[in-house]
Amino acid sequence: QAKAKGKSCYVIFNPEMKKAAFDRLQIENDLRQAIEEENLQLYYQPIISLSTGKLMGFEALIRWSHPSRNWIIPHDFIPIAEETGLIDPLSIWILKEACHQLKKWKVDYPQAANLVINVNLSAQQLREIRLIHQLMNILEQTGLEGKDLKLEITESCFLEVIEKQNGVVEQLKALGVGLCIDDFGVGYSSLSRLHEFSIDILKIDRSFIHRLDNNQTAIVQTIITLAHNLGFNVVAEGIETQKQLEQLKQLKCELGQGYLFSKPLDRNAATQYICSSQSFYNTSI
Ligand code: C2E
Ligand code: MG
Ligand code: MG
Ligand code: MG
Repeated sequence: QAKAKGKSCYVIFNPEMKKAAFDRLQIENDLRQAIEEENLQLYYQPIISLSTGKLMGFEALIRWSHPSRNWIIPHDFIPIAEETGLIDPLSIWILKEACHQLKKWKVDYPQAANLVINVNLSAQQLREIRLIHQLMNILEQTGLEGKDLKLEITESCFLEVIEKQNGVVEQLKALGVGLCIDDFGVGYSSLSRLHEFSIDILKIDRSFIHRLDNNQTAIVQTIITLAHNLGFNVVAEGIETQKQLEQLKQLKCELGQGYLFSKPLDRNAATQYICSSQSFYNTSI
């Protein structure tokens, strides 16, 4: 087609590319508006102690109900937020919302007294010391302690952060805020760099947990053993089957989350979960 119009004419955008670029721009604009109007929602996925079956905390997961596109999954807008700088106001909103919700649960329900909340952060947030001040404000406003909050950062982001050496990690530690390495195993760092991470918790990516169904335990076992030797607790992500659970218990993995226990829940459903759950093991027998 372009050729027919002459050599100097290039078709830079085909219709699909044009639509993708337009969609992106629209998502960016709509997201900006959604943040301003607080049209976003947090869902909460239970994190369970594998030895007792009890609820230990929740991971906060962002949900965006777009006015004309229904639900947009984080995978489709977090990268856009990161590229456009919207991730900063978005993350602050998420941190505030998650901390206020946890505080409310602690005030309302005695069984929530020791629960913690995990919040996902992008690398950008840890690049800047500003995060520490914002976090201190949020903790002060809510009256939560640092230890009530855990920040999840992916493996590749974490490597970038330790290379920066800007003191953010040390200050977070001083506040007592926990650090988790998320999706461990899929990044490009290797087990050999694990000792450089000053983290508290390692979350094994669900792709490894799923292999437990085929008795491929070696990798998970190696990660858990090394993590324990380095003094980290381990969370298994994406537990879906009883078989996965049994193997993880044998491997002395401390914590787990996944559809076997519960999908991410909206605020009301999470509140019900707090009120009704004794132990996953009692309720499932
Ligand atoms: P993640 O932090 O690893 O979160 C776990 C993802 O796995 C969630 O997807 C959760 O719904 C899903 N999941 C949990 N249990 C199971 C299971 O048993 N089976 C399967 N197949 N999936 C399970 P979600 O909510 O779509 O989030 C995807 C990713 O988006 C997150 O991965 C995280 O990296 C990012 N994300 C989510 N919320 C936030 C946020 O508030 N801020 C930032 N920066 N990133 C976020
Ligand atoms: Mg996470
Ligand atoms: Mg994860
Ligand atoms: Mg993941």
